[in-house]
Amino acid sequence: MAVAQETFEHLRHAALLEIDPEIAGLLERELERQRGQIELIASENFTWPSVLEAQASVPTNKYAEGYPGRRYYGGCDVVDEIEQAAIDRVKALFGAEHANVQPHAGAQTNMAVYFSCLEHGDTILAMRLDHGGHLTHGLKVNFSGRLYTIVSYGVDRESNLIDFEEVRRVAQECRPKLIVCGGSAYARTIETERFREIADDVGALLLCDMAHFAGLVAADLHPNPTPYCDFVTSTTHKTLAGPRSGFVLCKEEHAAALDKAVFPGMQGGPLLHSIAAKATCFKIAASQGFRSYQEQVRANADALAEALVDGGLDLLTGGTDTHLMQVDLRKSSWTGREAEERLDEVNITANRNTVPFDERPPTVASGLRLGTPAVTMRGFDESDMREVGAIISEALTEGAEIGALAERSDVLCEKRPLYPGFRGFTTYVA
Ligand SMILES: *Cc1c(COP(=O)(O)O)cnc(C)c1O
Repeated sequence: MAVAQETFEHLRHAALLEIDPEIAGLLERELERQRGQIELIASENFTWPSVLEAQASVPTNKYAEGYPGRRYYGGCDVVDEIEQAAIDRVKALFGAEHANVQPHAGAQTNMAVYFSCLEHGDTILAMRLDHGGHLTHGLKVNFSGRLYTIVSYGVDRESNLIDFEEVRRVAQECRPKLIVCGGSAYARTIETERFREIADDVGALLLCDMAHFAGLVAADLHPNPTPYCDFVTSTTHKTLAGPRSGFVLCKEEHAAALDKAVFPGMQGGPLLHSIAAKATCFKIAASQGFRSYQEQVRANADALAEALVDGGLDLLTGGTDTHLMQVDLRKSSWTGREAEERLDEVNITANRNTVPFDERPPTVASGLRLGTPAVTMRGFDESDMREVGAIISEALTEGAEIGALAERSDVLCEKRPLYPGFRGFTTYVA
């Protein structure tokens, strides 16, 4: 392999663009891609500039295995304060007795809960994946499906709402050790208190995975599951609009088991730059500005849902209580995959998704999942969403004018610029 002629002195001082123009160029291109498309993937968001700054910070250099005040390394007094701030803020935000902010991402939050309260082979009752559950809720090839016995509940065939009679019946039959509620594609309110009643009846623990709607909970726009649950898990990068990461909340009685499950049970050193960014995300999530943002996320979701229905598309459950909705394409001539590809051609990014009782495989699917957190972050309002809904409805007709529709998307992106002050990496000065 050719050895690049960089000196150690140069490497110690040079900026990214100088050292690695290839990666700097790809980062620029990714920024331009994000700026130039209407992002409707319901699990994505554009985090705050302040969070990006914390995420790109020097605690990435620090080892701090253990917890604040109880580390296995020296020099942890500053990072102890960072982690304690994150813990205190997230506990206050959701009214939790205990928090662990070390899980690297959402999947690890669920692993931490399972490791803390289940033995290999124990039974978990969770929502069927093709009805909106997450792969960490029991997909066969995921650790959850491999280590535990998975039993599922689904939605009602007519209403597409969670069928609580079925949840109760299946729970009484299988006597799960843990019930999981919350998912990745359910557009309606998760009624955690109804799951609590069933969990109490069968002697099960209850986990709510609020990865998707945590931001709405923080802004009081979705009921807070925390009082009803033994455990609550969440990502921080979806509606919560923070860094790509996660956290777990629990009742005090589970605190020691949870902390042990995360470290030393499943992770080594925590990512303290990411924990710093989470702390900032939690501070922002407690502000009036964040509440206004989430109110707009909800208003935009309703406006988009209405525009899609007006444009002749079917929505599962007819609309949404949250930031996301599912277009049901079963009565149209489109598959989920074809619809996703067509929207891509008109500069709208979304993802195909199975609908309940889908007859197509997940790689093709009959649904399209759409969400408003990301576009709302760049300033889209209800009238912009009505235009987005019109572009989507027109794009999903035969003989649609692709070029003209793509231009309408471009007009919206120019009107609502993403990270307007941010110049990318070509202007970095060391
Ligand atoms: C996104 C999501 C996760 C996993 O998050 P990652 O950060 O991708 O690991 C877990 N649970 C639910 C319900 C999710 O939607």
